[in-house]
Amino acid sequence: MVASAGLLAAVPARVAHAGIPDSVRASSALPKAEDDSLRGRSGKLRAVLVPPSERRVGILERLFGDSLLRTPGVYSVMDSSAGMSVALITMRAFAEKLGGKIGAYRMGFWPGERKKLLATAYAYPEGFIEVTPENAETHVSEHFRLSDFLTHDQEGVWPKYLVLRAPLVDKLELVISQLEARGTPVRHMSVMSGFRTPQYNARSGERGGRSKVSRHMYGDAADVFIDNDGDGRMDDLNRDGRIDYRDAQVILDAVEQVERTYGDLVGGVGVYRATRSHGPFAHVDVRGSRARWGRL
Ligand SMILES: [Zn+2]
Repeated sequence: MVASAGLLAAVPARVAHAGIPDSVRASSALPKAEDDSLRGRSGKLRAVLVPPSERRVGILERLFGDSLLRTPGVYSVMDSSAGMSVALITMRAFAEKLGGKIGAYRMGFWPGERKKLLATAYAYPEGFIEVTPENAETHVSEHFRLSDFLTHDQEGVWPKYLVLRAPLVDKLELVISQLEARGTPVRHMSVMSGFRTPQYNARSGERGGRSKVSRHMYGDAADVFIDNDGDGRMDDLNRDGRIDYRDAQVILDAVEQVERTYGDLVGGVGVYRATRSHGPFAHVDVRGSRARWGRL
């Protein structure tokens, strides 16, 4: 273990694996000084997402070991100081998508692949998380798992590939904390739609404030509702006896407070009313600039 800026103390950790061969194991350690940044603003992140071009690799190598960082996969690292596991998730390179597919999984094409876009936020993702039946339930934070964010298509095809950005997960956790601070208990925030492949998005874009270029394609948007009673629909968050867009506005209000506190997590919120196929929900993203739409 080599000390470096920001790394003050190291604690022993045990590395297990998820969805990779038994032979790929390593010993590792989680320095306490890094815990805050690894756990995000919410303190509730349980995964470190490492794109192929990650600049922090120097630090991460010291944390997790060279072999884990160079072998794309989902690894479970036991942080004995916190008494819980943290997932190290190393992504596959965007270039591994050949044509519109990676492996047998169809993704389609990002607009940035075909033409130069002015906004860098609308280029293409840095990499893909390979999700298997074995690693799909890996927690990325206290309330969320990899499987929550998968595109809802190609049911029999594995591995699936996922684009997910940590700031989105961090923001959703902060929204949960804010709801609870306001007296709305949250046992389950349901992600109705997280990542959407460009192919899927082209077929099923949301209306109202939508364009063909959706933040869902970039892993930094989620359509969510609170479902503590497990009936698959939004709960009566504002306790007015009805379940409608006003309950989604309760989520919007929480996001407003989170964005006031954490300006770097600013983004879009859309409030959606119920239709025949779904209950009310809120779209939340971390696009980097403020946007609002729907019934506000
Ligand atoms: Zn959305």
